Amino acid sequence: NPTVGVLALQGDVREHLAALTAAGAEAVTVRRPAELAAVDGLVIPGGESTTMSKLAVAFGMLAPLRDRVRAGMPAYGSCAGMIMLADKILDGRDDQETVGGIDMTVRRNAFGRQNESFEAAVAMTGVDGDPVEGVFIRAPWVESVGAGVEVLARLADHTVVAVRQGHLLATSFHPELTGDQRVHRLFTDLVRSSRA
Ligand code: GLN
Repeated sequence: NPTVGVLALQGDVREHLAALTAAGAEAVTVRRPAELAAVDGLVIPGGESTTMSKLAVAFGMLAPLRDRVRAGMPAYGSCAGMIMLADKILDGRDDQETVGGIDMTVRRNAFGRQNESFEAAVAMTGVDGDPVEGVFIRAPWVESVGAGVEVLARLADHTVVAVRQGHLLATSFHPELTGDQRVHRLFTDLVRSSRA
């Protein structure tokens, strides 16, 4: 089974570890460059992207993360993790860094105060069967994507909430909170096939 790390600087790390384990991965936490070097793929969890960005700098993880993503390591970002994988962000803090890798512009806290948290059924390419139960918590949305980015899911109003670019996957929502491991299985399969 592939070893899949969860970036454990901040955010809902435990939920992703549990979902990955249930999806058939060897799930481990990643806080240091040596731990990052040992994984086949990485999940960047939900949380607070400005804090995660600061901690990535403080832990000397930003450059190693960028290097591995650029070198082809599969990564999956959920919510704040989606923001971390975006080449460009809107409504970020001035000093907010991202790992980047997905040619997209993501707007933080995009759904606004009236709609800070909500759930929606999300039909997602690559996930067979019933729609995924999308849990959105102060979620970002994908405002625009480059030509190499595949849109995997939209809400009924066409808002883009899941994308893939090659070995990189991102969702606005939190599948780790629902007990449905299909998105984690999709990512684990992607890690497995990129390792083969
Ligand atoms: N609003 C958070 C941010 O901008 C993301 C929220 C989440 O990950 N649930 O980082």
